[in-house]
Amino acid sequence: MNSSTIMGYAALAKGQPLETFAYAKTALGDHEVRVAITHCGLCFSDVQAIDDFYHITEFPFVPGHEIVGTISEVGKAVTQLKKGDRVGIGWQGRACMKCEWCLRGEVNLCQDIVHTASWTPYGGFSSSIAVDENFAYKLPEGMLSEVAAVLMCAGITVFTPLRSYSSTPSLRIGIVGVGGLGHLAIQFAKALGYKVAAISSSPDKKKEALALGADQFIVAHDQDAMQKVAYYFDLLLGTAHGGVDWDNVLGILKKKGKLILVGFPEMTFRPIDLVAHQLSISGSFLGTPAGMREMLSFAQTYNIQPMIELMPMAQINPAIERLKKNRARYRIVLVNDPKDK
Ligand SMILES: [Zn+2]
Ligand SMILES: [Zn+2]
Repeated sequence: MNSSTIMGYAALAKGQPLETFAYAKTALGDHEVRVAITHCGLCFSDVQAIDDFYHITEFPFVPGHEIVGTISEVGKAVTQLKKGDRVGIGWQGRACMKCEWCLRGEVNLCQDIVHTASWTPYGGFSSSIAVDENFAYKLPEGMLSEVAAVLMCAGITVFTPLRSYSSTPSLRIGIVGVGGLGHLAIQFAKALGYKVAAISSSPDKKKEALALGADQFIVAHDQDAMQKVAYYFDLLLGTAHGGVDWDNVLGILKKKGKLILVGFPEMTFRPIDLVAHQLSISGSFLGTPAGMREMLSFAQTYNIQPMIELMPMAQINPAIERLKKNRARYRIVLVNDPKDK
């Protein structure tokens, strides 16, 4: 392979399986680092983006935003990282640094968020990637690369909202959905000191949810079980992508309770409970670079362990099928063959 060429896996059009895709290496910006990718986790939003669910996907599209690798090249003005450092990269690979939100330090809300993705122009199911040095995070020594990969999107996504309430650990928290995001949310919520319930439509996930640290497991369509926790939760974290009866879920929130969505599910509900019980529904998107560093250190200290299935990068299409069929337990991480560098 020519060293000026990067090899990746791309969807050439909406909804298509990925194909091997060669593209030219572009010159590195002054503040950018190039990372030789060893691992990349598969997130449900990769699948949604292949299907152009967000209406922002440009094809050919190389997904992948739970990236771990080693820095192979640094731009002229890079100060924090050096060649050979092992780093993680999440969904965001840069920010405009000019808009209201960037100036406030909330770069995950950058007004130009569509163009800040690490998958712009091409993402992590690839041999290498270039991002701004502020969005490549040096990994704790001893943390497995596949663990770090999953923390880059799933980890920060659930840690950020859970951490924001941690001054009141007496809150009753329910994690709606036990999957790639939910199985990590249970662990983070427990480590932050909350009483945690896992709420899932799959009764077979009970044993694992309890082993991950949930104090309680509730089957979402079991009306008796849901009735027992009516008006019970202060906070629900919505991690499921689908199959949720939202009216049922709103019924287990305490008055003035809050549902925070971190996935992108389709949602229908009758607003009666929302109004009469003064409930709120909000979203949480990624996290800041400072939050990312805190999350990595917290995960290392509290031994947060994503459950991972490792597969070779060349198996990307079977991996996507497995995730679509809800068979991944709970996160698939694709590993690059070192020969492909
Ligand atoms: Zn993701
Ligand atoms: Zn901005």
